[in-house]
Amino acid sequence: MSEGTNTVVRDVTIVGSGVAGLSAAVYAARADLEPLVLEGPEPGGQLTLTTDVENYLGFPEGVGGMELIQRGKEQAERFGADFRHGTVEDAALEDRPFELELADGDVVRTRALIVATGASARWVGADGEDELMGYGVSTCATCDGAFHRGDDVLVIGGGDSAMEEALFLAKFADSVTVVHRRDELRASDIMAERARDHERISFRWNAELLEIHGSREEGVTGATLVSHPDGHPTEKLDASAAPRAANGIVEETVDVGGIFYGVGHVPNTEFLEGTGVELADSGHLETLEGMTTETAIEGVFGAGDVMDPDYRQAVTSAGTGSMAALDAEAWLESQSVRSGSRALVGPTAQS
Ligand code: NAP
Repeated sequence: MSEGTNTVVRDVTIVGSGVAGLSAAVYAARADLEPLVLEGPEPGGQLTLTTDVENYLGFPEGVGGMELIQRGKEQAERFGADFRHGTVEDAALEDRPFELELADGDVVRTRALIVATGASARWVGADGEDELMGYGVSTCATCDGAFHRGDDVLVIGGGDSAMEEALFLAKFADSVTVVHRRDELRASDIMAERARDHERISFRWNAELLEIHGSREEGVTGATLVSHPDGHPTEKLDASAAPRAANGIVEETVDVGGIFYGVGHVPNTEFLEGTGVELADSGHLETLEGMTTETAIEGVFGAGDVMDPDYRQAVTSAGTGSMAALDAEAWLESQSVRSGSRALVGPTAQS
């Protein structure tokens, strides 16, 4: 056992406290499994960064993302779920019980593990973003939009997130330009229409962000954009061929006070690398075939955006969260390793 290991062995530990983790917590807690929920670096997950959720069943007027998460947490706590902050840095899943090493050095021991770590905002890879992220470059309009009252801002991306960011920013900014690498939006019709209809939102098609200008002292002052009539311009950039215009690339520097990324998310599975849990090329946790949340390691289950590259909705995450808790409960029953009145199997017992 590693130093700092908690001697308590949990029946179920849920890593992640977004909608998937909370839904798993409600189900596991109602099954008397007293789940531990580890809240990582983004407690509450992506919904806490969104404004109104209009498509979650049961809220005809919509519901605030933060409110939905707070209510979910209260619901899980009411049934006995135990929350603590902790980012899992390493997971030892070859022996039983599993051990999760946290960033603060603590080690959590658990019989079943539900991975609901979600996904984090993707960065574009433009020059200057490392220095200026948090200094005028942001992945969250609801967090940082109010700092850009009266500014001209860019939103990068063509999906629902980018439309949502643009609509939110249009409340504060003088102008919002959506920069999309193709000439067709990926966003749903309803979101695209709202953005298109907004008088302060305009679109720059077939364009990508190449470089961000500014400093930490003065913030973002401008951006260099490239465009190509066929779209995906950076794929066609050839630094050795000058001028770039010869490649059909048009390069332009614009004055802007803020840049918001809405280019999708990457699953948070780094701590699972090398553990035996299978990961797709995209980084998503792979579950077994069929309608299940089981993974290649018995006793490890996946829920929410971390295992779902396709649907990625709050309501589907809640659904897979509940499935993971039910799968974990059934698996624990089959192993007869639930604590309390049930028989306990020793820590090194294999499934
Ligand atoms: P997404 O649908 O994957 O869209 C990402 C967008 O970013 C795409 O337009 C993509 O371009 C672009 N992109 C990706 N990498 C890029 C790069 N390196 N440089 C420039 N552009 C890049 O992601 P999302 O918008 O975050 O949405 C994810 C899911 O959440 C979707 O299912 C969406 O419906 C849902 N969602 C719903 C709502 C809502 O209903 N209110 C709000 C937010 C999200 P391409 O189109 O060329 O690939």
